[in-house]
Amino acid sequence: MDKTRRNELADFAFNVRRNCIRMTNHGQSGHVGSMLSMAEIITVLYNGVLKNVSAEDPKNPNRDRFILSKGHAGCAVYAALYEKGYFPEDWLMTYYCDNGKLMGHISHHVPGVEFSTGSLGHGLPVAVGMALNAKLKNNSHKVYCMMSDGDMNEGSTWEAIMFAGQHKLDKLVGIVDYNRVQALGHSENIADLEPLDEKLKLWGWDACYVDGHDLEALEDAFNAVEENGKPTMIICRTIKARGIPWLEDTVKSHYGFIPDDKVEEAIAGCLAFCEQTKKGE
Ligand SMILES: [Mg+2]
Repeated sequence: MDKTRRNELADFAFNVRRNCIRMTNHGQSGHVGSMLSMAEIITVLYNGVLKNVSAEDPKNPNRDRFILSKGHAGCAVYAALYEKGYFPEDWLMTYYCDNGKLMGHISHHVPGVEFSTGSLGHGLPVAVGMALNAKLKNNSHKVYCMMSDGDMNEGSTWEAIMFAGQHKLDKLVGIVDYNRVQALGHSENIADLEPLDEKLKLWGWDACYVDGHDLEALEDAFNAVEENGKPTMIICRTIKARGIPWLEDTVKSHYGFIPDDKVEEAIAGCLAFCEQTKKGE
């Protein structure tokens, strides 16, 4: 990845983080830690990985589909869609507000969003159905689904994993935002997923780990997905609330917003992280 592109992507990720902080602060609710852990993943997806996805032609039948199963972090998708021109700036500060344009959990009423989610364990089963449909119709598009580690504790997710492996849904790409923190604690203390890659491979998937804050590594992982008769899971090692040092890797960052007197400090932390990324640190 050349320096110009890395800088552009780092700026995009910073804009996503800054808007997530401001939107959740204004709405006085949200899951800010869950949004900040996925900023680089959503940046790479909307800047080259997702094909035929654009605000000019949002219903292009050949578009790759993207489903966010961790719907509580939908603010990060809204922030990315805003950067890509899907809706005007004045929608941002309606997030989590009564009669607002941007609902607290991700909603398909927002342009560019394929499917509404909220309760965990719903996204992958829907993505599997979409990938099966695409396969039966010989369509060329891929279906991507981003999950949390909490999603990976859901029985319905594992039913979908089993089905996708058996039916060789190789246009399906799962993504785990593996920050290892969920609503009530660290995942290894609740329902440990390890060895996650080996479990997935046993069930007919390709699976790999990647640094979920490394833009180049993420792009390489998505570009390496093969249509070889297996669905792929990209397990992204991330840090909850990445960019805000005092909140990183904490359970308390899962649900909540940054209070007024901490907003600028939080944004400054995210800007410092952006500058580190640009230097390749
Ligand atoms: Mg998590």
